[in-house]
Amino acid sequence: MEALQQLTRRQIDALRDIGARETPERGVSLKVTAASLKVRPPSALGHLTTLEEMGLIGRHRGKSRLTPRGQRTLAEYQRHHRIAETLFGNLGLGPAETCAAAREIDLAISHRTVGEICRAQQHPSTCPHGEPIVPCHPTSRAG
Ligand SMILES: [Zn+2]
Ligand SMILES: [Zn+2]
Repeated sequence: MEALQQLTRRQIDALRDIGARETPERGVSLKVTAASLKVRPPSALGHLTTLEEMGLIGRHRGKSRLTPRGQRTLAEYQRHHRIAETLFGNLGLGPAETCAAAREIDLAISHRTVGEICRAQQHPSTCPHGEPIVPCHPTSRAG
């Protein structure tokens, strides 16, 4: 099973938040992650522990950073999310609704299905909000 399909919504939100806040010098504290997720620190710690066990983050002195695998998984998530947003946008949903609708499916769909949707939509280069969509992997069938 692909890493994304094993993650819960809270776990991917934690991964996204760490990716957005970390700097080359500094990781992200448990307190900050808990506040972003709007959960108490013990439940945030549970999500971080799972991410660490999956090799997606490293924790050092209480600060979390993405591992290279975590960075790849986050990039895959963004591609899933933005391709799903584009699909819903083409079905007539407004930009504000596409994001919420995409969040209902972006973790569940496989890379292969994302590739099929990408191809069916002629390989969109941006989501409805103008965020870039990474092109299909050169070795994928979608090309
Ligand atoms: Zn979105
Ligand atoms: Zn978007």
